[in-house]
Amino acid sequence: MRNIFILLGPPGAGKGSVAGELSLLIKVPVIASGDLLRENVRNGTPLGLKAKKYMEAGELVPDGIVIEMIGAKVSEPNCSKGFILDGFPRTLAQAEMLDGIRDAEDLFNVFYLKADDDFLIRRLSNRRVCGNCGKIYHLVNLPPAKEGVCDTCGGTLVQRKDDTEEVIKKRLEVYKDLTAPLLKYYEDKGLLHVVAGDISIGYMMDCIKKIMKW
Ligand code: ADP
Ligand code: ZN
Repeated sequence: MRNIFILLGPPGAGKGSVAGELSLLIKVPVIASGDLLRENVRNGTPLGLKAKKYMEAGELVPDGIVIEMIGAKVSEPNCSKGFILDGFPRTLAQAEMLDGIRDAEDLFNVFYLKADDDFLIRRLSNRRVCGNCGKIYHLVNLPPAKEGVCDTCGGTLVQRKDDTEEVIKKRLEVYKDLTAPLLKYYEDKGLLHVVAGDISIGYMMDCIKKIMKW
C-alpha cells in the first residue's frame, strides 16, 4: 500500500511548501515536476533541451515528456511507500496515466489549494528561491534573515525566470485552460478536497491534517 498525494492548484498557491511539510510528516518523498524539469534544463540533458522553451514561455511541457519522466521517478525504490506529487498531473492525459499506475489498495489523497489571481501574482513576483537547496522565500511574508542569502544553507537566493509578471499571467491562463478541468475530474470521483491557498502554510497544514488519509 502506498500513500499517493496529489496537490492541485494554480502556480503560487503553496503546493511546494505544503509538499515539503507533508513529506516530513508522512515520510515519503516529494516529486516536483517543475524542479525535475529545471534540473534537467540546468544539466543540459536531452529532456531539458526539449523542455526549456516551453518553461520559459510559461507553457506546459508536452505530456509525453512529462509522463515518461514522472513514470520513471515513481517506480524508484524510495517511492515504494508512496510519494507526494507537486505540479503533476497538470492535464487530463497526465491524470489518466496516474490512474493507470494506481493499485486498489493505495491511499489516494487529492487536495486543491485555492487562491485568486491577484493574490497569486503578488506571491509569485515576491518569491525567491535558494539556488542551492531550493528553499522558498517571500520578500515580504517570509524574508531571509540576511538579504539575498538562504538561512538554511547560505546559498544565493534567485528569482525564477518564469516568475516575472508577464510569464506569471501566461502560467495562470494555461492553468485555467488545461489544469483547472482536473478539479471536476477528481470531484466526479469523489476525491477532491478543497483548502484555502491564501492563508499561512501552518494553517493550511492544519486543515489538510484533519482530512487526509494516512
Ligand atoms: P508553478 O506551479 O509555480 O507554475 P512549477 O515549478 O510546477 O511551477 O512548473 C514550472 C514549469 O514547468 C511550468 O510552467 C511548465 O512549463 C513545466 N511543468 C511543470 N510540471 C509540468 C507538468 N506536469 N506538465 C507540463 N509541464 C510542466
Ligand atoms: Zn538554501
